[in-house]
Amino acid sequence: MAHVTLRELTKQFEDTVAVADLDLEIGDGEFVVLVGPSGSGKTTALRLVAGLERPTRGSIRIGDRDVTEVPPRDRDIAMVFQNYALYPHMSVYENMAFGLQVRRFRKRDIDARVREAADILGITNLLGRKPGQLSGGQRQRTALGRSIVRQPEVFLFDEPLSNLDAGLRVGMRAELSQLHRRLQATILYVTHDQVEAMTMGERIAIMNEGRLQQCAEPLEVYRRPANRFVASFIGSPAMNFFSGTLEEADGRWLFKGESFQLALNAAGRPATAEATLGVRPEDLALGDHGAFSALVRVVEPIGSEKYVHLETPDRARVVARVTADRSVAVDERVCVDIPAARAHLFREDTGERIGP
Ligand code: ATP
Repeated sequence: MAHVTLRELTKQFEDTVAVADLDLEIGDGEFVVLVGPSGSGKTTALRLVAGLERPTRGSIRIGDRDVTEVPPRDRDIAMVFQNYALYPHMSVYENMAFGLQVRRFRKRDIDARVREAADILGITNLLGRKPGQLSGGQRQRTALGRSIVRQPEVFLFDEPLSNLDAGLRVGMRAELSQLHRRLQATILYVTHDQVEAMTMGERIAIMNEGRLQQCAEPLEVYRRPANRFVASFIGSPAMNFFSGTLEEADGRWLFKGESFQLALNAAGRPATAEATLGVRPEDLALGDHGAFSALVRVVEPIGSEKYVHLETPDRARVVARVTADRSVAVDERVCVDIPAARAHLFREDTGERIGP
């Protein structure tokens, strides 16, 4: 396996900059997930690494090789797409063997690799079937098998689970993580699904409008989002935001929102006067006292917990996440407390994270 280094990688299509100055390092054997909304440039970034697009600028290294100008077949990568692109007239065995036959591997070696991959994926009993006789999950495993037999330096995945139903997706998520550990493979994985990103990635790289917003371990991203975009994109229900101003009071930062004030755990003079305060739904505390009072508009029980939609005095909507046994009723008035240690602050102008 090998590490992958992207430097100032840029792709412009006519007037669209799909990927802008992407700097990213994927370690040897690391599982990195590229995540972002539709149109953020994830697929283009992956296609650049695969060699299916030529960069406008920048470089791509796989291991010690600069592959920026190397054709796809010589990059030693394997790509798994959303539509598995299996050959319908070939059996599972033949689909997996095909890439090796084209590369003129010996029959004995092909057989050994196909059987080993089938064993890893638990599809040995399906080797004789045609894709039309397989379930979605089995087709997905076959597509994975076809990439595994190649024993590439790097695996590239483009939304490989998005055609599967919800239950199967959860199962395959766990299988892919296991597979990664077993193969110790270098993986770059594209998805728009933040849950997939959070659960599978050793690090996640969040893209927006062609630009990398943050690349860090999932919990670091969740706990310390680098900017307001990342804060709103990662986490469900999404983080709550309040616009307001920042000033210094008694040596500490004081946030003044429309309907509350909050003294923050930061000392000195704030660098900006306009700011957005963010709080995760699970960090809002409902009780008898708090920063402001709010009206319960909707309660959504989801089994293990409840999402409580609240209306603040200035008619903003916020969502709190409480345990299932917490009794709360529509039209009830509750006090909402914001623990200062749980507050995130962002500059109003750039959206960049500030403060402690
Ligand atoms: P999705 O999740 O919807 O696949 P994405 O994050 O993968 O989105 P890309 O497919 O990389 O995004 O597209 C990034 C931007 O580049 C979009 O604005 C898209 O319209 C544009 N784009 C992608 N491919 C081309 C192309 N071949 N020609 C022109 N514009 C393109």
